Amino acid sequence: MLPALFISHGSPMLALQPGASGPALAHLAAELPRPKAILVLSAHWESRELSVSGASQPETWHDFYGFPRELYAVQYPAPGSPALAGEVVELLAQAGLSARIDPQRPLDHGAWVPLSLMYPRADIPVVQLSLPSQLGPELQTRVGRALAGLRAQGVLLIGSGSITHNLGELDWHAGPEVIEPWAQAFRDWMVAKLASDDEAALHDYRRQAPNAVRNHPSDEHLLPLFFARGAGGAFRVEHSGFTLGALGMDIYSFA
Ligand code: ZN
Repeated sequence: MLPALFISHGSPMLALQPGASGPALAHLAAELPRPKAILVLSAHWESRELSVSGASQPETWHDFYGFPRELYAVQYPAPGSPALAGEVVELLAQAGLSARIDPQRPLDHGAWVPLSLMYPRADIPVVQLSLPSQLGPELQTRVGRALAGLRAQGVLLIGSGSITHNLGELDWHAGPEVIEPWAQAFRDWMVAKLASDDEAALHDYRRQAPNAVRNHPSDEHLLPLFFARGAGGAFRVEHSGFTLGALGMDIYSFA
């Protein structure tokens, strides 16, 4: 059975400069059974209500500014899956969660950047799920649990965000050997609580974790982790590291 994954997607430049994450993502994809479809909850689709992308051919959205021109030329022409989108809405409804289909939604970079490194042929259907970020971790755990059964049907569930994410404190010239201690401490606390499966502490991370607010001034990039944990089983660190001094690049599986 496929695991659920949490992927720190880094800067959009990861698509062109994959660093250590690219090989880790490619290796992980090669080890997994080939998915029939992929469902991505991306930090870059915040919404008030739950929405599911329903386009049969979603466009590649370059939803960022000020990057080199060649990044805007990257396309990820994976098909969508209106059938899976419908099933996701149904499973959420069975769990008491209402969701709507968005027939226009393109793929944002939280989805296509990591997928371009995992499945570069773009031949597996991709559906996206939105993030009602104002409703916090508990909702994401619930959404993950509601959709966990899709794993047995060959759907790869991915939460795409970042284990740490304070863009205002990044050092754009730092190499991978530079790691801010306040970012490392937060990451280590999260890993310890994930390993001990301490849901109460994880849901209360904003008060309990060291430097939580400094690492996540807003927490839309951490919330996809709760979705992946809710959707999956046993926790494992697949890859860890930092870039730009404080941007965590960890990848976790929940098998
Ligand atoms: Zn992001």
